[in-house]
Amino acid sequence: MTDTVLEVDNLCKSFGGVQAIRDLSFAVSPGEVLGLIGPNGSGKSTTVNALAGVFPATSGRIMLCGTQVQGMTEHARVAMGLARTFQTASIFPEFTVREQITLGGTVTLTLHPLASVFGLGRHASEDEALHERVQEILDLTGLAPVAEQTVGTISSAQQRFLMIATALAAEPRIILLDEPAAGLVSHERKMLSETIKAIRDRGTAVLVIEHHMALIMEVCDRIVVLNFGSKIAEGTPAEIRNNRAVIDAYLGE
Ligand code: ADP
Ligand code: MG
Repeated sequence: MTDTVLEVDNLCKSFGGVQAIRDLSFAVSPGEVLGLIGPNGSGKSTTVNALAGVFPATSGRIMLCGTQVQGMTEHARVAMGLARTFQTASIFPEFTVREQITLGGTVTLTLHPLASVFGLGRHASEDEALHERVQEILDLTGLAPVAEQTVGTISSAQQRFLMIATALAAEPRIILLDEPAAGLVSHERKMLSETIKAIRDRGTAVLVIEHHMALIMEVCDRIVVLNFGSKIAEGTPAEIRNNRAVIDAYLGE
């Protein structure tokens, strides 16, 4: 049918009298990195929360791999292939890094609609596949050297990579990253951009919200720009960099 992973049509979200998103439409393809940028308060986090199902959209349509997801819980959307990271870490400090990522992978197994039919669907072959997947993710996110350390002992930058790794373990079709570079220093941002590109190269779509313009310009295939809840521009990094409306929106910040 369609090879669009995520399609958003005329999405609106109001909080009381505040219209946080208005008539927002965009699509993301497999193996694409789409950036969502805009000044503070322009509606970026609201968009991510509406997509993930934290709260219902006021109106509009969200299609995930061809299926409408309005009304579905956050967990159901994860099971359908949408994963996200959070701005604050939600981790188990006593677990090792490897255990925490493995837990991210088992969540989808138990959430699968047929899981109960198959006694949670855990078979030796699945455990083996999960083990391999976790190792691949450890390598991809640069966490392999600290795999056996407990989560409480790794650096805050490593914890941010761990959140991405945990989300990846659920084998998403698309991963939503809300300000993944927050608190990272230059060489860590470099690692982050390498990780984002590697995720894309595996065929997973990425939707990234980020203030750090150099990172956005480097990793994104396409960028959508919000201002006061509306899309004011969409294009390649080169197009966005020279867009008058975008420059004006940021100058007004
Ligand atoms: P961004 O992430 O781009 O900085 P947000 O999506 O957080 O922007 O916010 C967009 C607008 O919606 C802002 O005016 C903000 O005050 C408002 N808003 C966001 N979340 C809520 C909420 N839970 N209740 C009321 N207003 C909110
Ligand atoms: Mg935000």
